[in-house]
Formats: sequence, C-alpha cells, structure tokens
Amino acid sequence: MKNLNKFLELKGEKKFRIKQITESVYKNGIISFSDMSFLSSDFKKELEKNVKILDFIVLKVIGKIEDNFLKALLKLDDGNLIETVLISPKPGIWSCCISSQVGCPCNCTFCDTGKMGFIRNLTDKEIYDQVLFWNNFIKNSDLINSKRIDSIVYMGMGEPLLNYKNVKDSLKILTNENYFNFGNRHISISTIGIKDKLAVFSKEFPQINLAISLHFSSNEKRVKYMPYTINTNLKDLKKFLNKRLLKNKRKVFLEYIMIKDINDTKEDLINLINFIKSINNNYLLHINLIPCNNNDDINFLTSEMKNIFYFKNNLNKNNISATIRKSLGEESYSACGQLANK
Ligand code: SF4
Repeated sequence: MKNLNKFLELKGEKKFRIKQITESVYKNGIISFSDMSFLSSDFKKELEKNVKILDFIVLKVIGKIEDNFLKALLKLDDGNLIETVLISPKPGIWSCCISSQVGCPCNCTFCDTGKMGFIRNLTDKEIYDQVLFWNNFIKNSDLINSKRIDSIVYMGMGEPLLNYKNVKDSLKILTNENYFNFGNRHISISTIGIKDKLAVFSKEFPQINLAISLHFSSNEKRVKYMPYTINTNLKDLKKFLNKRLLKNKRKVFLEYIMIKDINDTKEDLINLINFIKSINNNYLLHINLIPCNNNDDINFLTSEMKNIFYFKNNLNKNNISATIRKSLGEESYSACGQLANK
C-alpha cells in the first residue's frame, strides 16, 4: 500500500491502526477506505486523499462470469498497460493468472506478449495488487459464491524468473499470514526455464508449484520458436529436474502447446517420450497438452484433436502422465500466450 505506513506514522497513528487497515485490505479484499467501518469519516477522507491502495487503474474488465473467465486491462502509474485474468477451472474454484512484466524479452514466436518486446519489470506491489484486485472483484460479485480466489498462477505477461527479485518479494507477501495468507501449494510459477534461477527458486520456494513451458522436444526447434531458450537447453532442464525431483518429491508440470505441423509430428512425440524417459523419477512429471490458440496475429494453427489425443495416448502408453488441458478465454484473447493488451 503506497505510503500508508509512512502516512500513518506521520499522523502519529498507532501500530494497531496500521495492522487493522492492512488486514482489511489484504485479508478481506477491501480496496476503498470508505468501506472501512472502523475509521472515522474524516480520517477516511484524509486517507483517500493521500494514500493509494492499488498501484494501477482498472480500465476495463471483459468476459463473463458465466463463461468462467474474465480479463482486466490495467493502467500502471507510468501509463504502461498490463493484463490479468480470472478463470474458473472447476465449478466453484477461481484462479487468477497474474503478470510479472510489461511485455516480455523472451520473444516466443507463438506468443502475443512476446511480440510486444520487453518494456519493464513489474514491482512486487504491482504483481500482488493484481490478486488484491480479483479478491475484491469476487467479494463484490453476486454471481460468485466465494470470498476470495483459490489459487494464483504466474502465467500472465512476462517471464517471472527474469524478474526474480520482485516475484520473490510478491510471493512473500502473498504467503505472509499477516497479508494474503495463501498456502504455498495454492500458487504456481510458470516459466520457460531460466537456468540460473530455476535452482534458486526451487530452494527458496520448494512448496510452490512449478510448471515449465517445454513446448518442443528438440533443442533445434525450441530455440527456433522460443529464442530465449538458447540460454537453457534440454540438457540443462534435465539436470535441474533430476535434482529437483529427487530432493523435492513433488509433481512438476511440463506444458506442451500443440501447434499443427510444427511440434505435433511423430518425431516430436518420440523425442518427447525419450526426453521424459531420460529423467530420473519421471513419475513425478505431468505433461499438459494444450491446444494452441488460433488468432489473427499468430500464424500458427492448433493441432487436430485426433493428433492431440494421439500424443496423449502414446505418452500414457509409455507410463507418462499426460492430460489435455482446455484453454479458457480464447475468444477474448485471455488464454496462455495471448495477453497483449488487446
Ligand atoms: S510465452 Fe511466456 S516467456 Fe514466451 S514470450 Fe510469451 S510471456 Fe514471454
């Protein structure tokens, strides 16, 4: 909360007041001082004039609760725009997908955010305020029967491990019992895999879920379509996974976007099976096969469903855990790889 502590200290307020306000905001999802009944009306007015709760303005929210997804366009203090998404993957369960950067330096060829280029890192507050915004949205919605969101995924705009310091600080606030108090296992980080940060993240947040965007089963194709992976090849990922799965014993998700004629051939499947089989304790790996989203700006088409099932069935036959993930929000450009402030 921008300047709140400083402002209250200057006003000579006691610590309990700071705690009371902080809890109202982060635990109860209140983003307006006027809704804090324990404050005098004069003090509410003074706070509203001097202290800002959210570090952005919400320009618009599109999508429908009935369709289980919504996307919000947010304007940051410096005028940059980011997006954040609310999804209901199962009835009664709401998950938010948050951004960690404005744009992204990774330039994955199938991703709209990548096409924007890198503009800047988000601050820790700009990251966790997205969660605060959705908590407040849910709290005030007559159509959603939950008090707050159930889980958080760092899978919006940007590569979270390339903004590690601020992502780490935001995770600390999201899991802090005096703030959001989310359980570690209710949070996931989705990354293409950044060699020197994967191990650090795993050590510092062993209970937070990890999803690695694999998408290609050969280095050649991976670098062609995900140029930033030149820094972290499949051998590096294998080395990391061997250590992580042995030590951590928790499931790691490998994301595989299925793109017609690009990464859905028999050779791709064989390479994928061989890669998974080469990793120790691979029973802890789970492959999410994701139909690529078609849109006018991206010249890739989704694989045919029969091909996606062919991949799934062959992975399963080889004792590799794999499911097909439904991509919500395609129509409003809010699915994975489609956040670009449209
Ligand atoms: S897929 Fe992820 S890492 Fe790649 S460009 Fe898009 S946001 Fe960045």
